[in-house]
Amino acid sequence: MTRQWITVLGATGSIGVSTLDVIARHADRYAVFALTGYSRMDVLHAQCLQHDPLFAVVADAAQADQLQARLQLAGVQTRVLHGCEALAEVAADQRVDVVMAAIVGAAGLPPTLAAVRVGKRVLLANKEALVMSGALFMQAVRDSGARLLPIDSEHNAIFQCMPSDYASGLGNVGVRRILLTASGGPFREMPLDELAHVTPAQACAHPNWSMGQKISVDSASMMNKGLELIEACWLFDARPEQVEVVVHPQSVVHSLVDYVDGSVLAQLGNPDMRTPIAHALAWPERIDSGVSALDLLLTARLDFQAPDPQRFPCLRLARQAFEAGGTACAILNAANEIAVQAFLEQRIGFTDIPVIIEHSLNCLSPVPVKELAQVMLADAQARECAQQWLASRA
Ligand code: NDP
Ligand code: MG
Repeated sequence: MTRQWITVLGATGSIGVSTLDVIARHADRYAVFALTGYSRMDVLHAQCLQHDPLFAVVADAAQADQLQARLQLAGVQTRVLHGCEALAEVAADQRVDVVMAAIVGAAGLPPTLAAVRVGKRVLLANKEALVMSGALFMQAVRDSGARLLPIDSEHNAIFQCMPSDYASGLGNVGVRRILLTASGGPFREMPLDELAHVTPAQACAHPNWSMGQKISVDSASMMNKGLELIEACWLFDARPEQVEVVVHPQSVVHSLVDYVDGSVLAQLGNPDMRTPIAHALAWPERIDSGVSALDLLLTARLDFQAPDPQRFPCLRLARQAFEAGGTACAILNAANEIAVQAFLEQRIGFTDIPVIIEHSLNCLSPVPVKELAQVMLADAQARECAQQWLASRA
């Protein structure tokens, strides 16, 4: 079997580490072309020793020189590059077959889009990229013939439950609704008046999943589900009213597809991202992911509830932004990134997150999107607007 060359954007993060774990189980199928990191240089160093990539990409020249010297000492041939252009280069290089897009936030958009534009097989974890630029992103997928495979566990589940010809329109293939499951995060049952005082550590302590800080806070506020609602609309060409969010605290049913004949197909499994990663890597084949078999008797119960709109205002804001269209989702995403960072730095309370997002959505008028520059401008303006809110509070 010829091995496929893979670039892992965001290799040092939670998804990146899980991806390399799956790849290491299948050295006969995959070879690592490039690994990228941003601040965790020791992790990237260790990954280069283990996976021997052709390239590593870091943020700046000083980091690159240091890592290059350490790798040379260890006798590793990896060439270390730096900067945003290098990220796009290792994503779009002619030799690359597969790109795992696992950088967090807006920073992941340019290299992910670069991979899409040259028709790679793109494993999409970086939901923010799609939320920001949905129409352009999906048009680029169609134009280049890129194969986009969702890594987000819910979207991967939906993909597995969809008929193969879903691109012809949900109505044409008998799909009535998509049921997007949500764990409800760590604050699902906390008294509402305590939410203003929760700490970053509490917000990051997700009951079922171990993830990076930003998505953990998004899960606690349910902005994650808001971003995922938008993600599902773009990936499956669904209208927002065709996507229903259902709180499912056990995180065993990863999402469901409801058909007009009354059939409901679901994908289940232990909450471990190596399952969707292995699925997308090998699709349409199946490979071992290292995830243990689901023990239904141990699971015993599957509960489902409606999300509480008062507890989770971010869900409403995301629906509103998607319906407003144009650059509104880029504004939503950027304001959320600033708000989450400020919460993690303990500059604001948890319940200020939706306030900042709503403020930014009210300050800026969305414009129709024709090119990426408009998305990047809306992103910058929304960051500025959210920063001004923070400054006015300080
Ligand atoms: P992490 O925070 O664990 O990892 C983020 C990765 O992005 C790291 O490799 C980090 O480098 C890199 N990075 C951060 N900022 C920049 C930047 N400005 N430029 C370049 N690289 C950068 O996040 P996760 O792995 O949890 O999530 C990654 C993406 O996958 C997110 O979009 C998230 O929403 C999505 N996702 C994650 C899931 C999960 O289970 N973790 C589930 C579903 C989706 P470094 O660490 O070296 O600083
Ligand atoms: Mg998810």
